[in-house]
Amino acid sequence: MGCVSTSRNRAKRTRRVRTKTPEHLVCDVCGQPISRGLGPQRFRVYIRPYDRPSTIINPHGEPADYTNYSPHIGNERLTLANCAIFIRQVAKKGEWVMALTSTEYGPVRKVSFIAHIDDVICRRTYAESYDKARLDNHYNWDEGRFVNIPNGYHFDPKEIEQDQSCCRVLLSRKFKAFGPNTGQELPAQRREILKHFRAKHAINQRVFDNEIGAILFDELDGPTYHF
Ligand SMILES: [Zn+2]
Repeated sequence: MGCVSTSRNRAKRTRRVRTKTPEHLVCDVCGQPISRGLGPQRFRVYIRPYDRPSTIINPHGEPADYTNYSPHIGNERLTLANCAIFIRQVAKKGEWVMALTSTEYGPVRKVSFIAHIDDVICRRTYAESYDKARLDNHYNWDEGRFVNIPNGYHFDPKEIEQDQSCCRVLLSRKFKAFGPNTGQELPAQRREILKHFRAKHAINQRVFDNEIGAILFDELDGPTYHF
């Protein structure tokens, strides 16, 4: 009757349980998955290598000649709705997301954007509440599932699957954006942040002091958007 549980098995089970965060696995709004279980949701600042031209805004605050897709900036919001699944899975309201330029654009990686997360909403809410003119708002909620609307960005089944593996959309009303390849150099006293990046295309998340996002935001010299 019963199974024999060795101490080694118990240790394995304990570890497995500790790496799950059940409250983040399924969305209350759409019932779709939020997370595949990335471990403790304890990150404060997310640093994401920005490895391809995508956004954003030139120094004059006008949309530059980029796709402006991820993040999308428009109508007083910066949104991360697609790709970026590691960040979308774990970022919480009140935290900061920062992206760096790729080493393709120079040996010293710079800040592409830094954004205060003012809200985290389900993609269904995003689809139903926000203008479809937003380039990253290209999923409709239809009879219990998300349907991709033809768009110029994500149409490959793999991209769609990745987008839909996490329904969370991050919204920011307070951000600084420097462009995907020009960027803004980190202040000298913050350069140690760069050493936490393993490789050009690796996605990294890093625990920082609670206040570091706000400090960085103030220290970075560039166009500020606060709506
Ligand atoms: Zn959802």
